[in-house]
Amino acid sequence: MSKKYVYLFSEGSGKMKELLGGKGCNLAEMTILGMPVPQGFTVSTEACTKYYDDGKKISQDIEEQINAHLIKMEEICGKKFGDVKNPLLVSVRSGARASMPGMMDTILNLGLNDTVVEGLATLTGNPRFAYDSYRRFIQMYSDVVMELGKSYFERLIDELKEKRGVSLDTELNADDLKELVRLFKNLYKEKMGKDFPSNPKEQLMGAIKAVFRSWDNPRANSYRRMNDIPYNWGTAVNVQVMVFGNMGDDSGTGVAFTRNPSTGESKLYGEFLMNAQGEDVVAGIRTPLNIDKLKEIMPAVYNQFADIANRLEKHYKDMQDMEFTIEKGKLFMLQTRNGKRTAAAALQIAVDLVAEGMISKENAILKVDPKQLDALLHPQFDPAALKVAKPVAKGLPASPGAACGKVYFTADSAVEGAKDGSKVILVRLETSPEDIEGMAAARGILTVRGGMTSHAAVVARGMGTCCVAGCGEIKINEHNKTFSVSGITIKEGDYISINGTSGNIYAQAIPTVEAGISGNFNTFIAWADEVRTLKVRTNADTPYDAAQAYKFGAEGIGLCRTEHMFFETDRIFAMREMIVADTVEQRKKALEKLLPMQRSDFEGIFKAMKGYPVTIRFLDPPLHEFVPHEDGQIADLAKEMGLTFDNLKSTIEGLHEFNPMLGHRGCRLAVTYPEIAEMQTRAIIEAAINVNKEGMSVIPEIMIPLVGDIKELKYVKDVVVKTADEIIAKSGVKLKYMVGTMIEVPRAALTADEIATEAEFFSFGTNDLTQMAFGFSRDDAGKFLEDYYTKKVFESDPFAKLDQVGVGKLVKMAVELGKKTRPDIKLGICGEHGGDPSSIEFCHFAGLHYVSCSPFRVPIARLAAAQARIKEMRGI
Ligand code: PEP
Ligand code: MG
Repeated sequence: MSKKYVYLFSEGSGKMKELLGGKGCNLAEMTILGMPVPQGFTVSTEACTKYYDDGKKISQDIEEQINAHLIKMEEICGKKFGDVKNPLLVSVRSGARASMPGMMDTILNLGLNDTVVEGLATLTGNPRFAYDSYRRFIQMYSDVVMELGKSYFERLIDELKEKRGVSLDTELNADDLKELVRLFKNLYKEKMGKDFPSNPKEQLMGAIKAVFRSWDNPRANSYRRMNDIPYNWGTAVNVQVMVFGNMGDDSGTGVAFTRNPSTGESKLYGEFLMNAQGEDVVAGIRTPLNIDKLKEIMPAVYNQFADIANRLEKHYKDMQDMEFTIEKGKLFMLQTRNGKRTAAAALQIAVDLVAEGMISKENAILKVDPKQLDALLHPQFDPAALKVAKPVAKGLPASPGAACGKVYFTADSAVEGAKDGSKVILVRLETSPEDIEGMAAARGILTVRGGMTSHAAVVARGMGTCCVAGCGEIKINEHNKTFSVSGITIKEGDYISINGTSGNIYAQAIPTVEAGISGNFNTFIAWADEVRTLKVRTNADTPYDAAQAYKFGAEGIGLCRTEHMFFETDRIFAMREMIVADTVEQRKKALEKLLPMQRSDFEGIFKAMKGYPVTIRFLDPPLHEFVPHEDGQIADLAKEMGLTFDNLKSTIEGLHEFNPMLGHRGCRLAVTYPEIAEMQTRAIIEAAINVNKEGMSVIPEIMIPLVGDIKELKYVKDVVVKTADEIIAKSGVKLKYMVGTMIEVPRAALTADEIATEAEFFSFGTNDLTQMAFGFSRDDAGKFLEDYYTKKVFESDPFAKLDQVGVGKLVKMAVELGKKTRPDIKLGICGEHGGDPSSIEFCHFAGLHYVSCSPFRVPIARLAAAQARIKEMRGI
């Protein structure tokens, strides 16, 4: 027997979500529960996958199964497809495993043609209704199946309304609608070069194909990428008997939630319209009524609906989002699903469901999407204003939140703008460490180049500032202080808005609403902390960021990038002096100036972390990043430093590298200039001694970056140990410290057993590890990754979501090898993946002890770590 691809609602169940999609399995479940569901069948997600495997064709076998189920459906409802006397009309709707509201297509009233519509008019005694249904069907079919676009049809409606002198669709009478049908069909023929299909079976196959096709439309693809939904899941298609809310004043249609999806309040919430069909409720042409009004208009129907809503919520143990239709006073349930909700509502509902005894704390933890917590920590756009705003471009969603402000093109002008009280959006080709103050002054950062681990992305995330990176559609003219995109030119001082959660850019001001953490947050996150075993640290480089992260629940610092401390105006000079030094003595002199600055920063960080472990990484970036490159700036610096222009220029040119990311950086700097490692060791150890004298018990963790060979580590570690031990011995106090390394070069992962003979801890630097494992430049990959998504080469950005297959294999291998040598080795991750929920789950299962992420992602990581632990306990 051939494989089953089509299921009657009565053949399915709530357990068949993978096969029937969310909508299909819930329709089956409501059928089992004896609820009034218009019957029908579901074409499975496997049929969708096969459609793509077969070169976008529905196989004969599947077509036959669809036709056979159509006959069964006719028997169940006692109506016939294409029959004039008693016609069966159907809706065709998508339904993927994970709900993707509004991403895919729906067709209503399918089965109508010129003769059936007459039959429907006679049968219902309502020609207006019949022709209204028909014109809607032609419109939807032309748009969804034939991709003709809605606007042509809307224009015809507007023209006819003007001719008739009416303003509402509902004021058009049966003859008007009949005329519209004629005009629509003519339009169809003109555009498509053939007649509108009159055979209902042909219509049905066209519609099913269109739904399958819509799985691959650009908006569905980007929704999936943002929500970690795999492409190979496919969508199911539900074919359901139509019931009509537009049959007169005793009919209607609506959408309702069992609890308020904005606030979480436990009260039926929703809207409906009488004498209307599905899309009218959301189209905004007529104002829908509050669901409470239904109690007055049709009390019996309201009570029945409220009872069903209540039963559904108890059954699914979650807030439900339901669609219903009332046909001639009779209620029908068209769909139910776990409702989408705001972050605040998600927490309110989770806490309430536990208090009501409906679910356990663990189930409550599993219900909240960790990424949603972002919305509580960052400003968001005002939802109403956002709805009517149109994006002009899209970049990478590099750091979440929303920002609106005036455009500035340089860090200095951004700082000036902010001083004058403006809200600032800093727009740069790419950012570099020199831009740090401008970035700190900005509400939002937009860059043309760079990926998810670019400087802009990493720093913005650390600051909690909204950032859209790598938006190649933008053309900047730095000279004129303008940028252009989608035919629009934006000048310095013009308002734009950017959304770091979606990557959208708007050439207009959109008001934002501030973030707010409610009391439920603390209750909820405390439950997560009770179950999780994975610790959550933070990546923070300043005492301020460390304190912020501590408030968000960080249990230590997993990465302090010391280079970020050198860019402040009072420090960069000493740093440059160190770089251009000709002799070791000169360099040591410059380092002497940097020492007290570093020491006091480390003291501040240790104090902010109140005894939690702190990992400090030695200087990592290539030195050329710290010096100017334009002649004018070089001349200024030469003057300032008492050097000749030529001398300084040649030193700077000497630092030039063809491939700096694989160049003189990381531990290689310390091999060349051990005095830098000496100074940094001194700063760390002296800071620890100082704070311990004040009663703390800090054990600093010194981390050596970019090690690929045990001998590199050994060389730098010897410098550290010699320096540290001397200082400790001299101080007369006891201080423990640890020396470890980042695992971010593939060779280090492959030889982790050797590396562990020297390293007391490993911290996986998955930014560089991803870069080197794939051979993708982390700063340039954004340029071509978009093509990878559209061509289905990749589904997600490996710099944002850990590639568990390849990079993950290196991580697992290093864990295993490291433990073999040193069973108690401390293991963590400090690449950007440490704040990504699915990567955090991977880290939990790989046996890491902690993840480390930017301060604003700490709550997300706490929740994701708890979910991973629950999944582990339940064997999910
Ligand atoms: C990494 O490579 O993953 C890392 C954390 O270091 P950085 O991003 O500073 O190179
Ligand atoms: Mg690195």
